[in-house]
Amino acid sequence: MIAADGAHSKIRPYLTDLKPIYSGILMLEGNVSNAEKSAPHIKELIKDGKIMAFGNHKNLLLGQKGSGELGFYASFRTNENWAQESGLNFSDPKQILEWFKKEYPEWSSIWYELFENATAPFIPRPIYYMPLDQVWKTQSNLTLLGDAAHVMPPFAGEGANMAMLDALELSQCLTSDQFSTLHEAISHYETQMRQRAAEATKESLENGDKMHSETALTTMLEFFSGH
Ligand SMILES: Cc1cc2nc3c(=O)[nH]c(=O)nc-3n(C[C@H](O)[C@H](O)[C@H](O)COP(=O)(O)OP(=O)(O)OC[C@H]3O[C@@H](n4cnc5c(N)ncnc54)[C@H](O)[C@@H]3O)c2cc1C
Repeated sequence: MIAADGAHSKIRPYLTDLKPIYSGILMLEGNVSNAEKSAPHIKELIKDGKIMAFGNHKNLLLGQKGSGELGFYASFRTNENWAQESGLNFSDPKQILEWFKKEYPEWSSIWYELFENATAPFIPRPIYYMPLDQVWKTQSNLTLLGDAAHVMPPFAGEGANMAMLDALELSQCLTSDQFSTLHEAISHYETQMRQRAAEATKESLENGDKMHSETALTTMLEFFSGH
């Protein structure tokens, strides 16, 4: 069995008791369909690409999708149960706009267009990661890949890439002549996968800290100009 059932995998507990850890950051997701018509000013700004807007400890991340839809996230530090405790109705864009004005008070009104025209409901996504030093005893009939194995914050853009690489490397191990048993093949895959995922998780945690710091804007400008 290969468990590829995401961050809250039902299969993972058969391999390990280690659970995802809350990162302290929550991303509130919204989507604007037909952005050309419903959010023309943002559409003009984004130029079919991406926008990362940084403020004091908070940010807005936007991406143009192929479908003409604009996806966006308000990302900020809060507690894990914020969605339940906030009292907000995530199906009511007007309420979420008022929340944005209150929580992002220094931000330009240009962003309001996103909240005014978003398709309800907004989706609160608390961001999790797996322990960097996680290890479990290999089994010969069960393994994990993707977020089930190593959910991480999205701030290095590596989660989906890691999941696909896991699938490739696992298939190579399972079909290779190098291993005489399934146990050996899975053990090799898991060792490499955990090490690779731990490095990406560390990077995504560090980037998350930078992006939600007091000096996020200058830090991120330096970060990008260094590449
Ligand atoms: C806000 C945000 C932004 C992100 N941005 C990026 C990015 O820019 N770049 C990047 O590489 N990654 C990004 N990621 C991470 C990326 O989305 C995940 O790492 C990736 O989706 C993991 O893929 P997966 O297949 O392991 O898990 P998932 O995508 O969670 O897929 C698991 C699937 O299993 C299904 N499932 C669960 N249980 C069962 C069951 N019992 N029976 C049948 N099916 C089941 C679920 O319905 C789901 O379809 C982001 C994540 C978030 C939250």
